[in-house]
Amino acid sequence: MHALDHDGLNYIDGAWVAGGAGRIAVVDPASGEVLADQALANGADVDRAVQAAKRVHLSGALTAMRPVERGRMVRAMGEYLLAEIDTIAPVLTREQGKPLWEARAEIEGAARYFEYYGNQAETLEGRSIPLGEGYFDFTLHEPYGVSGQIIPWNYPVEMAARSLAPALATGNACVVKTPELTPLSSAWLARAAEAAGFPPGAVNILCGMGPDAGGALAAHRDVAQIVFTGSVSTGISIATLAAQHVVPCVLELGGKSAAIVHEDADLDAFETDLRWGIFFNAGQVCSAMSRVIVHAARHDELVERATAIARSLSVGPGIERPEFGPNMGALVSDPQRDRAERMVTRAVEQGARIATGGHRPNRPGAFLEPTVLTDVAPDMDIARQEVFGPVVAVMPFADEAEAIALANDTDYGLVAGVFTRDLDRATRAARGLRAGQVFVNEWYAGGVETPFGGYGKSGYGREKGREALWNYVRTKNIALRLR
Ligand code: NAD
Repeated sequence: MHALDHDGLNYIDGAWVAGGAGRIAVVDPASGEVLADQALANGADVDRAVQAAKRVHLSGALTAMRPVERGRMVRAMGEYLLAEIDTIAPVLTREQGKPLWEARAEIEGAARYFEYYGNQAETLEGRSIPLGEGYFDFTLHEPYGVSGQIIPWNYPVEMAARSLAPALATGNACVVKTPELTPLSSAWLARAAEAAGFPPGAVNILCGMGPDAGGALAAHRDVAQIVFTGSVSTGISIATLAAQHVVPCVLELGGKSAAIVHEDADLDAFETDLRWGIFFNAGQVCSAMSRVIVHAARHDELVERATAIARSLSVGPGIERPEFGPNMGALVSDPQRDRAERMVTRAVEQGARIATGGHRPNRPGAFLEPTVLTDVAPDMDIARQEVFGPVVAVMPFADEAEAIALANDTDYGLVAGVFTRDLDRATRAARGLRAGQVFVNEWYAGGVETPFGGYGKSGYGREKGREALWNYVRTKNIALRLR
């Protein structure tokens, strides 16, 4: 008997089905308990889902509709998730590890994507281009057809919503490959699509192992567009597979994002930024504040404050943490925790110092103490490689140019932040930072409305905002010769 009453099936062509690759146990990282078994799709299952999606696309069921109608259906998916939040949130917490209030925030975030892109559905307009007398020229934005989406485990519901919502709003049919560590909560996305009235095959939600089901989706000749969120190495293999059929990808990969904290920064306020920046979702956030580059004059004070915040967090099972507050859950799995812990050990071997944390607490489960590292030099692994855990590396700087150079000194470029009261300095930094998004005086400032994506190895293409709509449509130009 499993801990959750969840049948762990895949949703293909409007039916709940088992998978050709057997089943996988889904484990609660806070307790080690098996929650449920999830069906694993193989290549044949992926093919059935893609064929179903293609059939829906060719039928015109989504594209013939007036956009406002499609937009209402997309919004209805979000409304469904909100109506079911009390059921979904504990499942998400149990499979992913995050505190229950964070799971609720994730589901609200997912619903927000359906609201925002549902509202955008009827705003995508072409233009007419003057070609002189005798011509009438205009553009159309047509959906790609079948959108393939491969989802990571850190925000399984929200990341899937981030791609599903604009893809459906623009009239694509979708095949979503959910993460094998956290597949259970994604079942409600399928239920939401059904409740909203999408025809069978328009939304397919299946789990499978990465190289197997994910690889089959990325390599499928009838998938016309791919969105991937995850690690750099997986992104490269997916883009390589997609390139065989000349299929475009959006890649949202990792980061090693830095906050620059100037001498005049408001450190009281910055405490909140740091708390969210590196300890939200136990640091398993692609845009986490994993480096703090602080003016030497404020370094010791900042380390003291960061240490106090880290120590103030109550670390334990997410399900026992229902209320917003100073707490943190488990990492997603033991291997993920072990990897983060090893990176801290390696940093210490290379000369870094642990101001606080760095070890697993004395309790079962995939927990890691909130960790602050100092004496971090730019060439250390901890300054360059993503931990994807609750570990912040603090580095001092002497002048503005050095701070920006340090912030830019990684292969990544997802987000960056600058904290100062000096608007000129903030503006110079915003221009100089090599990142897709720059926060001034508030980490994570922005929202579903603001474009998000990487420079360098953090990926290409933009999700969120109006920009994301362009991932899911192609522009067709129509030129009429008038006679
Ligand atoms: P991952 O790359 O291992 O897996 C992500 C997804 O890809 C999973 O669904 C997995 O099954 C699938 N996959 C794995 N190998 C595959 C293959 N060969 N072919 C096709 N699919 C494959 O990443 P992860 O460990 O799940 O997530 C952590 C990483 O994701 C971190 O590096 C993090 O920074 C990044 N991330 C980025 C964003 C963003 O928006 N930029 C968001 C979340 C996570």
